[in-house]
Amino acid sequence: MSGAEVRVSSPAKINLSLGVGPVRDDGYHPLATVYQAVGLYDEVVVRATDGSPVLTVSGEGVDVAEVPTDGSNLALRAVAALGDHHGRELPVELHVHKRIPVAGGLAGGSTDAAAALLGADVLFGLHTPREELLGLAATLGSDVPFCLVGGTALGGGRGEVVTPVMTRGEYWWVVVPDSGGLSTPAVYREFDRLHGDDPAPDPEVPDELLAALRAGDAVRLGAALVNDLEPAAVSLRPDLLHLLRAGRQGAALGALVSGSGPTTVFLCDGPVHAEEVDRTLRSEQGTRPAIVVKGPVPGARVTGGHR
Ligand code: ATP
Repeated sequence: MSGAEVRVSSPAKINLSLGVGPVRDDGYHPLATVYQAVGLYDEVVVRATDGSPVLTVSGEGVDVAEVPTDGSNLALRAVAALGDHHGRELPVELHVHKRIPVAGGLAGGSTDAAAALLGADVLFGLHTPREELLGLAATLGSDVPFCLVGGTALGGGRGEVVTPVMTRGEYWWVVVPDSGGLSTPAVYREFDRLHGDDPAPDPEVPDELLAALRAGDAVRLGAALVNDLEPAAVSLRPDLLHLLRAGRQGAALGALVSGSGPTTVFLCDGPVHAEEVDRTLRSEQGTRPAIVVKGPVPGARVTGGHR
C-alpha cells in the first residue's frame, strides 16, 4: 500500500461567542462557545510509507517556522492516537500545507489534527465509527471535534462537546492576521490573573446571538459577538484595542478577537463591504492585508487521493 495517499481539506474556526468560566480542578476552563467554520483551509496529505512517521510543512502566505515537524505536531499525534485505538501501527508520511495563520486563535493545529484523523482513517480503511472519531478528537484538543463537524455549533465542556446550531444565510468575515502569535495557555493565565479572587461566572451563550443566527441577521449578530478572553488578549497586546474600536465604531458590523488571539475578525454584510473594511483598516490602522472568508463551511473533507 506504500504510495497510496488521501488528501483532506480542513477549515479554520472562529468563535462567535466565547464564554469562559473559572478554572476547573483538572486545569481546564469550562467553555460555552459558538464555533463557526470559515472558508480558510489547511490541506493535509496522508501517505502510506514503509518507514517511520514523517511530517513536512509548507506555507502559503503563512510563516510556518513555529510549526513542529516532530512527534509533537498535533497531526502526527492524531495518527498515533488512531493507531493506538485500533491496536496497530499506522505508518504515514504527512504533508501539511498551511494557509491558516499559526498560533492565531483560528484552530490551525486542531484542524490539521482533524484532517489527519480523517485522512488516516480513510487511507487504512479503518471505518472508525463517527462517535469514536469524535472521542479521539476530544483527547487531542478542545477544538478538534468541531473541526471534524464544521458548520456552526455550540461547544460545551472545555469546548469538545459539539452540538450543531440552526443558522440561516452566510456571514462574511475580514480576518486580520497578526505577525506575533499569542500562546493560548498564556492568555488563559492572564484571564485567571485578571479575575483574581473574583471568579468568572459560569459561561453562557447569549440567547440574542442564537436568535440572530436563526434569523440570518448579520447586523444583530454583529452586536451580539462576545469573547470573554478579549480583556486578557488585549492586556497582553494593548494595540489590539485600537483595531477593535475601529471595527466597532463604524467600519464593520462587529469585531472580535478570534479565540485567544491575536487574530482579529470583523463581520461584514457581504464581499464588497468586506473589501471596504479591509481597505479602511489598512489605511487607518496600518494592518496587513486581510483574508476575506465566508462561513459557515463544512468540517474536514476528503478532497482527493489514490489507493
Ligand atoms: P487554538 O485556536 O486551537 O487555540 P491556535 O490557532 O491559536 O490554536 P495553532 O495554530 O494551533 O494555534 O498553533 C499553536 C501551537 O501549536 C503552535 O505554536 C505550534 O507550536 C503547535 N502546533 C502543533 N501542531 C501544529 C500544527 N499542525 N499546525 C500549527 N501549529 C501546531
